[in-house]
Amino acid sequence: MAGANMINRRVALIGAAGATGTLLARGAAAVPEIDTGRVQNGRVEFPAWTALTERPSGGPPNPMPMNERVGFAVVGLGRLTLEEILPAFGEAKRSRLVALVSGTPDKAARVAAQYGVPRQAVYDYAVFDRIRDNPDIRAVYIVLPNSMHKEYTIRAAQAGKDVLCEKPMAVSSAEAQAMVDACRAAGRKLMIAYRCQYEPYNREVLRLVREATFGPARFIDAVNVQNQGDGAQWRFKRALAGGGALPDIGLYCLNAARFLTGEEPVEVIARSFSPPNDPRYAEVEETVNFMLRFPGGTVANCATSYGMHESRLLRVHTPGAAISLDGAFSYHDKQLRIACREGRAEAVEERRVPMQNQFALEMDHMAECVLSNREPHTPGEEGVQDHRIMEVIYQSAASGQPVALPRMDGLDRTRGPAPSAS
Ligand code: NAD
Repeated sequence: MAGANMINRRVALIGAAGATGTLLARGAAAVPEIDTGRVQNGRVEFPAWTALTERPSGGPPNPMPMNERVGFAVVGLGRLTLEEILPAFGEAKRSRLVALVSGTPDKAARVAAQYGVPRQAVYDYAVFDRIRDNPDIRAVYIVLPNSMHKEYTIRAAQAGKDVLCEKPMAVSSAEAQAMVDACRAAGRKLMIAYRCQYEPYNREVLRLVREATFGPARFIDAVNVQNQGDGAQWRFKRALAGGGALPDIGLYCLNAARFLTGEEPVEVIARSFSPPNDPRYAEVEETVNFMLRFPGGTVANCATSYGMHESRLLRVHTPGAAISLDGAFSYHDKQLRIACREGRAEAVEERRVPMQNQFALEMDHMAECVLSNREPHTPGEEGVQDHRIMEVIYQSAASGQPVALPRMDGLDRTRGPAPSAS
């Protein structure tokens, strides 16, 4: 340690000599480590510069060197890819963008230039299987309309690549299971992009629930609604989307209730509604309300719709506190409030968790699994189970009756090990 410090001091002196040579010439003191930082165990670190009363900054991200990271091919250059995923590579530590797949050549060329992807690493769907010959590609991120996930997951696995696939995993549980089976047969990993399970605010709520900080979760309220636009988009076509609001955004409510409790529901009651004169809802539903009953006693009440102003709220009611996460399923702004008794008063605490890019966290988790040959936290089985439950939700909504699900004991039955703190 002392030796390392001396070396660092010397490096600091050499560095300072260039910038502030006159100071050195006059024998000025070495710049202290609190200002220069230090390299320890291959990481650049800075000592805390604020008092213990302040939140720590988290320090430099210490990304892996580029040539050691897992190379991703991103398939589908739609809104999610261009607005969130490609920018998130800039905040990733273990992942890098190495290839693109698109059926729109001018867009692909432009995006490749924007992100420094070489021309020979841009593929279209016809030649997709040639990714097999590109050793830079270790993982493939599928960001296509839902009905295309199965084909490209299977083709990627058969080309020898590990797969990260967007949610909803497919358009049915049978397709989802076929994806799991194909990846297993090809000896490749399959992870479903349940970003909220990697996002720090959702993980803080998870911690409070699992540690029963305020007592057990008795009731979960989950709302994910937005006002959808033009009816020409694929999200209104059953063959491409597999359903309406439920698989697209209601899935977040379902998945949150499952990952917070760690349990699988034993009963579902659902209702769905679509405005009868709106041609956009000829094939898919606008609104679904569903209630899930869990074996440990938690009840989740979930609402999703394409016909209401954006709201994405998760609330967990426990005996000791009401925990509310506003923006729970959003990409960015979140507000976590905990209301509980404080003496004679009701205290409402706002808890601020350091924000991190959830797409970068999720890709880095996949990269870590590839590098260390681990099972992803949200493997294909997690997606299959959501599809099974969504099918039961539709069944209940159609019949107007509650539907029982087979009891599955144990926690986190469909999940791999928890993601490591980044
Ligand atoms: P999008 O409509 O913006 O993009 C879809 C892309 O697929 C486009 O580039 C389009 O050209 C291409 N495509 C190829 N064949 C197509 C076809 N036959 N019909 C329509 N498009 C075709 O969609 P998006 O919002 O980027 O969604 C893509 C996937 O990502 C979906 O599975 C969606 O559920 C998922 N998604 C996830 C999140 C999240 O937060 N994790 C957010 C949005 C979307």
